[in-house]
Amino acid sequence: MAVATTSDTPAPGPVRTCVGCRARAAASELLRVVAGTDAEDRAVLVPDPHRRAPGRGAHVHPTQECWQLAVRRRAFPRALRSGDNVSGAQVEAHLRDLLTAHAPPSGSPQHRTETGAHSS
Ligand SMILES: [Zn+2]
Repeated sequence: MAVATTSDTPAPGPVRTCVGCRARAAASELLRVVAGTDAEDRAVLVPDPHRRAPGRGAHVHPTQECWQLAVRRRAFPRALRSGDNVSGAQVEAHLRDLLTAHAPPSGSPQHRTETGAHSS
């Protein structure tokens, strides 16, 4: 591969490539994902929003779209050398939290019945 020129990226700080859509973006806009193990010592993908975990990391836009793309392409096992059947459940949960924080669910589940309490 030829060396790409990076002089056309005005974003401050480090720039990373999203493993989902392959677009470059500031590292601060991407979610870093690292390889870890769960309680049963199986390989899992772990979200690293503060980008402090040591070792290899892969970056992805914190959206379902890019996450699904990356999973379908097996981008994480390739980038992290973590093995093919690595679980992404922790990252999925993290993304779900992020996305629901941005868009709270409409329609509250709580509905009180305030009718007919005092009849007869
Ligand atoms: Zn992306």
